[in-house]
Amino acid sequence: MSETLYPPSMPRRLALCGECDWVVRLPERQPGQRAHCPRCHHHLTGTARRDAQAPMACAIAALIMLGLVFAFPFLGFSTHGVGHVMNFGDTAKALVGDDYGVLAVVLLATTVAFPGLYLVTLVYVCLGAGARQLPGAIPLARLLRPLEPWMMSDVFIVGVLVSLIKIVSLADIHIRASFIAFCIYSLLLLRTLTLIDWAALWDAIAPVPAPDAPVHAGASGQSQALVACRACETPFTINHRHRCPRCGKRHHVFRVDRIQLTWALLVTASLLYIPANIYPVLSTTTLGHSRPQTIAAGVLHLAESGDWPIAAVIFVASIMVPVSKIVALAWLCIAARGRPDASLARTRAYRLTEKIGRWSMIDVFVVAVLATLVQAGALMSIEPGPGAIAFAGVVILTMIAALTFDTRLLWPDAAPNDAS
Ligand SMILES: [Zn+2]
Ligand SMILES: [Zn+2]
Repeated sequence: MSETLYPPSMPRRLALCGECDWVVRLPERQPGQRAHCPRCHHHLTGTARRDAQAPMACAIAALIMLGLVFAFPFLGFSTHGVGHVMNFGDTAKALVGDDYGVLAVVLLATTVAFPGLYLVTLVYVCLGAGARQLPGAIPLARLLRPLEPWMMSDVFIVGVLVSLIKIVSLADIHIRASFIAFCIYSLLLLRTLTLIDWAALWDAIAPVPAPDAPVHAGASGQSQALVACRACETPFTINHRHRCPRCGKRHHVFRVDRIQLTWALLVTASLLYIPANIYPVLSTTTLGHSRPQTIAAGVLHLAESGDWPIAAVIFVASIMVPVSKIVALAWLCIAARGRPDASLARTRAYRLTEKIGRWSMIDVFVVAVLATLVQAGALMSIEPGPGAIAFAGVVILTMIAALTFDTRLLWPDAAPNDAS
């Protein structure tokens, strides 16, 4: 098989920073180099790699591992001579059986459906980046970047490990082949993400069109009526069709102020956080005696039984992260258009908030795994509680709130910190 190489990239091109709205002239990147925004230090491009085969090979390997996840048992459980073996697909079945279909959809979408769709699409797009242009490669490539925040197989692995530590003193747990395959699949998925050179991939499937009007580097995009496409990251002048001239992605025009949208999502998430803490997230039945448990009670129970590290993980993921995320985003909404000298610190606070938000999903996955695995009738069983649905809602709403927040509002049109 001949080596698939991207065509040589354009020597000097313009980029519009998606975080601080600064127009930057990019020099040609040598293999291994990546470009940062001189004003906010945002990664304007990934590491330059001219090889389209590496991400494609890694994606195919991840897909094979994902297939193996469904071919073998996932975990084994036994207590007092009663036990069973669970497959990965049983998690969704058990949740649907307990009338928690919403959690089953969240679990399957974030661990299997979105990553699987991403990997298949990426393989097709990379094939289209070779000598032959494949039909539909551009609209399919547009799907990829928006899916990335919603792929949570790594969070699910931590959720499984926390679940196992929670019940290891009460029952015998056996790790089966499918769990190992899932871990390898998750690692390969993360590796695939680091191997993609988006700038080179887009160059290979869609050439950059000539700008409608002259574009000046070292000025804000807003002052030149420029926006950056969310799919292919190409700067373009806002046109009447509101579509990117390179990939055709629709540029969303918000009918309400975007800060109001972020506020609305934050208020809804804050309200949902109340039932998420009042109602039990799971209910444990031991020898016929049922004991519902809220998030805070679960943390206290773990701490009392001496599992301090795991109590700390659940405390940070389920209490500290959602609360600090809501508070931090509310503070950023208030601080938008504030002092220009604090712009960089605020942008860093936003990045941290956006990155850690998905880890709150750990507790939802713990509930899903325990409810499927611990099934020994009246002897010992665990069922999900309504608090888990409310909590999953809090995590998803705060993630959408972070995505709707427009970081450009943190950057009034001031001079950059460094020369661009
Ligand atoms: Zn920037
Ligand atoms: Zn585009």
